Amino acid sequence: MSAFNRERVLSVRHWTDTLFSFRATRNSGFRFVNGQFAMIGLEVDGRPLLRAYSMASANHEEELEFFSIKVPDGPLTSRLQQIKEGDTILVGRKATGTLITDNLMPGKRLLLLSTGTGLAPFASLIKDPDVYDRFETVILVHGCRQVSELAYGERLVSELGSDEFFGPLMQQKFIYYPTVTREPFRNRGRITDLIASARLFEDIGLPALDRETDRIMLCGSPGMLEELHQYFERCGFVEGNHSEPGHFVVEKAFVER
Ligand SMILES: Cc1cc2nc3c(=O)[nH]c(=O)nc-3n(C[C@H](O)[C@H](O)[C@H](O)COP(=O)(O)OP(=O)(O)OC[C@H]3O[C@@H](n4cnc5c(N)ncnc54)[C@H](O)[C@@H]3O)c2cc1C
Repeated sequence: MSAFNRERVLSVRHWTDTLFSFRATRNSGFRFVNGQFAMIGLEVDGRPLLRAYSMASANHEEELEFFSIKVPDGPLTSRLQQIKEGDTILVGRKATGTLITDNLMPGKRLLLLSTGTGLAPFASLIKDPDVYDRFETVILVHGCRQVSELAYGERLVSELGSDEFFGPLMQQKFIYYPTVTREPFRNRGRITDLIASARLFEDIGLPALDRETDRIMLCGSPGMLEELHQYFERCGFVEGNHSEPGHFVVEKAFVER
């Protein structure tokens, strides 16, 4: 049996000249936990060209959704950005990843901290009713350079907010904090600075970071992860994994080559 399923592209949306998202059919046997990633890609010259991608759709959805970067000379994304409705993509049969709620100890607040396409696993998690059962408050922070790069997340949050089921839940429990570094915007600054200076908590009007109540998921650029990883460890937070749940968990949104 092949290691991947062939799925049909259902729609593609370009958000900026560096970001796009697409939806595809989902094999009924493809199971995942919200927050996980799989290997996906294209057949190129008769061979699979695959990269890790977080599912941006939730596991209760019939279709798959992905949120992607366009790397100009990237082996996969220079091609993937050209896909159209009806094209075929490959999706690995096995999903994996550390950004799952079972890897966190019970807590009251869940902080989802992302930069760029690191938003993708959190797009899945904020559509998971179980997340709102486990936590009293869910805070989604998305950092980008430019305002236009926030568009996918803003659209997602606004659609969920008007959803019959999620709307009331989100009104009660969900806080969205988009921030940019290179343009004027209502929230400005790098996530590390916003956390370390407690500005984030002042802005949203909630108590400062607290190891007793806060659980954290991180997904973004290697640099941001490194800084925040060190910061949280200095604050006494312990990293969780599949064998031992912790205060925080980390996944790279991409690997520097
Ligand atoms: C666990 C995991 C989950 C991932 N999930 C996603 C996802 O949901 N969406 C997504 O677009 N990518 C994701 N990636 C990155 C993805 O696997 C590929 O690297 C990306 O699609 C580019 O592929 P490529 O072959 O075009 O270029 P590559 O040769 O893979 O990358 C070339 C260079 O581009 C830069 N780069 C790659 N990906 C990104 C990115 N996402 N954001 C900013 N710079 C990047 C890096 O500097 C990298 O060295 C994930 C990576 C990992 C490890």
